[in-house]
Amino acid sequence: ISAKAIQKAYTKGEHQVRVLRGAGLSATEGEFVSVIGQSGSGKSTMLHVIGLLDSPDVGEVLYEGKRIDNLNETARDLLRNRVFGFIFQFYHLLPELSLLENVMAPQMIRHSMLGFWKQRREIRQQALQILEEVGLGHRVKHRPSELSGGELQRGAIARALITRPRVLLADEPTGNLDAETGHEIMTLLKKLNEDNQLTIIMVTHDEAVAAQAHRIVRLKEGRIEKAVIASAM
Ligand code: ADP
Ligand code: MG
Repeated sequence: ISAKAIQKAYTKGEHQVRVLRGAGLSATEGEFVSVIGQSGSGKSTMLHVIGLLDSPDVGEVLYEGKRIDNLNETARDLLRNRVFGFIFQFYHLLPELSLLENVMAPQMIRHSMLGFWKQRREIRQQALQILEEVGLGHRVKHRPSELSGGELQRGAIARALITRPRVLLADEPTGNLDAETGHEIMTLLKKLNEDNQLTIIMVTHDEAVAAQAHRIVRLKEGRIEKAVIASAM
């Protein structure tokens, strides 16, 4: 996955804020890249552009060598659902669904309603297996309000994995967790990266968390600076 010379500005009142000013970032298959940078430096914006949640003003995003940012909305939706998985600082699980239902939800969106009902048992088995994999086999009937922060993030990771994404985009995944729980989430992400050759691009403002990846880049003044810290991995 590769983002090239990305420019993105937002209009705030009368002012134009140029957030990204020619930022470039790529990750090869199976690579785990951290993006660090100060709050407001455009880390989330960059991740959204890469994952087709937002469009660049200038620049392009390529997946397997083909440009994807300029595709029509249907094709972008498809890629968003098939190629990318997303996790966020605040988990974004749906409060009225059980953990199992939350994890199954992306498959409801992917298949039509009829397709979903035909494959319901299979999808349920798949979700249970992934929940087991992230260490939540004993929590499947619980609602999000009944889970700890670490469990919620594991649940969000399980939900991101059910569509078998090739690229996981993680926006401050440990940002709301204490150090020890954050460490457990990083251990899980590293395991998923190693076992499944899952490409991961993770945004964080925490250098110790960033150092867990293969490679670290810094977003500064709208551009990406190359490797800044030797990785601990
Ligand atoms: P980071 O994730 O590094 O903290 P963001 O990418 O969230 O930074 O934001 C970068 C800048 O762009 C901030 O100044 C933020 O206020 C602004 N910004 C982000 N999204 C929007 C938006 N949808 N509308 C207006 N301004 C935005
Ligand atoms: Mg952010």
